[in-house]
Amino acid sequence: MNTTYDVMICGAGPVGLFLACELALAECSVLVLEKAEQPDSLLKQLPFGTRGLSSLSVEALDRRGLLAQLEVPRRLKNPFGDNKSLQAGHFAGIAFQYPDIDTAQWPYRLPSSTPTNLLAEMQELESVLARRASALGVRILRGHAITACQQSADVVSVQANSQSFHGQWLIGCDGARSMVRKLAGFDFAGTEPEFTGYTTRVDIADPEKLSPVRTKTPRGMYFQSQPGYLAMQDFDGGAFHNGEEPITLAHLQSVLRRISGTDVTLSAVHTATTWTDRARQASSYRNRRILLAGDAAHIHSPLGGQGLNLGLGDAMNLGWKLAATLHGTAPDGLLDSYHDERHPVGAQVLDWSRAQVAAMRPGPEGQALHAIFRDLVGTRDGATYFAARVWGIFTRYDLDAGHPLAGLSAPNFECEDGTRVGDLMHGGRALLLDFTGDAARQACAAAYGERVQYVAARVRESLGISALLVRPDGTVAWATDQTTGHDGLPQALARWFNPAA
Ligand SMILES: Cc1cc2nc3c(=O)[nH]c(=O)nc-3n(C[C@H](O)[C@H](O)[C@H](O)COP(=O)(O)OP(=O)(O)OC[C@H]3O[C@@H](n4cnc5c(N)ncnc54)[C@H](O)[C@@H]3O)c2cc1C
Repeated sequence: MNTTYDVMICGAGPVGLFLACELALAECSVLVLEKAEQPDSLLKQLPFGTRGLSSLSVEALDRRGLLAQLEVPRRLKNPFGDNKSLQAGHFAGIAFQYPDIDTAQWPYRLPSSTPTNLLAEMQELESVLARRASALGVRILRGHAITACQQSADVVSVQANSQSFHGQWLIGCDGARSMVRKLAGFDFAGTEPEFTGYTTRVDIADPEKLSPVRTKTPRGMYFQSQPGYLAMQDFDGGAFHNGEEPITLAHLQSVLRRISGTDVTLSAVHTATTWTDRARQASSYRNRRILLAGDAAHIHSPLGGQGLNLGLGDAMNLGWKLAATLHGTAPDGLLDSYHDERHPVGAQVLDWSRAQVAAMRPGPEGQALHAIFRDLVGTRDGATYFAARVWGIFTRYDLDAGHPLAGLSAPNFECEDGTRVGDLMHGGRALLLDFTGDAARQACAAAYGERVQYVAARVRESLGISALLVRPDGTVAWATDQTTGHDGLPQALARWFNPAA
């Protein structure tokens, strides 16, 4: 039978799987085509299988009941026995510390909030997402690399494993070297690399010759996050990564010696991979019936660890909009708001990674910038700012909705019965949360039937808010401080949920 799926997703990485879950939760039929035969075939080869999840990713997973399924270590264990465990993150290798971060400066953080950041095992995250996708009815075909695609006015067809598959929409979630992006002719503009980054697991014969903390030298940077887990940045213009040379012990040792300025000796290489700081972004995230999300839409260096978070944010933003488009309930322009909202967020992350590269450059300019950033990061306001940027606390869509909370991720308000916003969003529906039980607000939501869930509840800490409308992706679409009244609420509902549908 020649099935036409609602959505075909290319790539069963974390972004493709999370997006598949979002679409299936909204009752779309979804096919995921994945090149790799086995779910963990690549991940098992890579050192550093953990990823830092930002506040926004933690919230997104919590809002779908997935956070509880991850056995996430809260913070890095401290293998060196020094004060590394206080490190909350870094900018250009300059660590900021938990005790310096003043979360009171973030007006919408609540004691009931989910953590600002966590570490997750990529392999575990992917298997939790794959299990959920399958439970929701998503069809995942592994060993199916997409090799061709065509789109017409109402269908997209792809070829994979000598077979044809059809869908109303195709989403490229196939990573940095995205085949979908190339086949569909997306423009991918940006900047070329300045360095080759190395992520390795090695045996070091004389580790005492190296500094135990992230170290910038006039020739580059090196860091051991745990004994033997060695990362380096070598400012070679990305030449080694782009070349054909294998990553040998002799090569790694010579790079490490040059960067560290020591005669340190490597006795074995267990695994090693390279990457660069190339930073590129699709100029448009949509080409008619084909869209991009995750690394397929944007690439940048992993410095500061934001790529996965950016991709999960894309998936959360796109899923409900595409589902509403498929169900005929989307207001005009809803699907295009995916690009409008997510492209600027991606551009900011690319610039964040470029700024780090500028401060890491060998030479006097880089050293001077680095010194200034070190001063800034070392202050309380500085640490608070850098943490907020890395954890997505400041990420805000420009919704022009007249309240400072609009466009931000909804605070995790806790109702008096202990239920939190995150719990109320497991079904993936919009939420009108009303702390005063105003009948007029309830009537506004009722006009949208099942699509907008109305909950009247007292909360433990209201932050001065009286009611808020939360989109299915957790973004506040409208909020008021007035104890009664619904000024702007009908407009906000109509803007996102189409009253005529
Ligand atoms: C060393 C390192 C550390 C990092 N640390 C962090 C961190 O701490 N925090 C963070 O947020 N991010 C981090 N990142 C970035 C993060 O890993 C990526 O941004 C994230 O994995 C992207 O997910 P994705 O699903 O978009 O792409 P991928 O994970 O690359 O998945 C793409 C999938 O598509 C499949 N595919 C490819 N081509 C085809 C095809 N033609 N047909 C079908 N399937 C195909 C691939 O097999 C793969 O399964 C780090 C990256 C690196 C390298």
